[in-house]
Amino acid sequence: MKLRVVLVGPPGAGKGTQAQFLSEQFDIVQVSTGDIFRANVGNGTTLGLEAKKYMDAGELVPDSVTIAMVRDRLAEADVRHGFLLDGFPRNAEQAAALDTLLGELDTELDAVLEMQVDNDEIIRRLAGRRTCHGCGQIWHVDYDPTQVEGTCDACGGELYQREDDQPGTIRRRLEVYDEQTAPLVRYYSERALLVPLDATGDVEDVTARAIEALKRATS
Ligand code: ADP
Ligand code: AMP
Repeated sequence: MKLRVVLVGPPGAGKGTQAQFLSEQFDIVQVSTGDIFRANVGNGTTLGLEAKKYMDAGELVPDSVTIAMVRDRLAEADVRHGFLLDGFPRNAEQAAALDTLLGELDTELDAVLEMQVDNDEIIRRLAGRRTCHGCGQIWHVDYDPTQVEGTCDACGGELYQREDDQPGTIRRRLEVYDEQTAPLVRYYSERALLVPLDATGDVEDVTARAIEALKRATS
């Protein structure tokens, strides 16, 4: 199935976790703006140096930078057969820019999956999140622990805690979500694209419900 999907939800809702499974299931490419920024930070590029200031403060990277980056990514050949956008759009300007970009590519979105999780659970998820330096796999110290602490089960790589998963930065990211990103739920609901999803419970159960909901919404 040639699906074009946006994942929307607060930080820690499980977007990255589910994107890994859903992109496999539907054979589409995962495009995560957060991952692209982190890769640039890791490689010390100009884009990474610019983005890091905002990421460390829990703020959004400026639209001009983010939209140009997504424009380049969506021009690549692998997204022609479908994509899953994880972490973009994050405000009204980015949503409008995405509409324009897709128009230029003569295509449109099929669905926007809204991952719903309450704030207490989000804080528990972010505080225990660990990510693999090697393969990018996402783990959790309590909910999804590795066999050996600090070592990725998938590739043996070293796990790290994201710098923006500190309590003060988490609080700011949640505010930014409420102020700037949450209004997109209404935007997409009015366009009849919104697919609400209860994103609590076991990862596998959330994946199963997401697959079912996306199939139903796009059939
Ligand atoms: P996001 O991409 O939305 O910021 P992540 O996918 O990185 O969120 O998930 C945040 C944390 O929550 C990770 O540590 C992940 O292992 C954990 N997590 C994801 N889904 C669930 C779930 N259904 N139940 C418990 N923990 C989860
Ligand atoms: P994420 O991995 O989605 O949690 O994103 C981590 C950080 O990257 C965010 O807190 C922002 O600073 C930045 N970022 C990711 N996606 C975007 C976006 N679409 N617009 C602006 N900043 C973004």
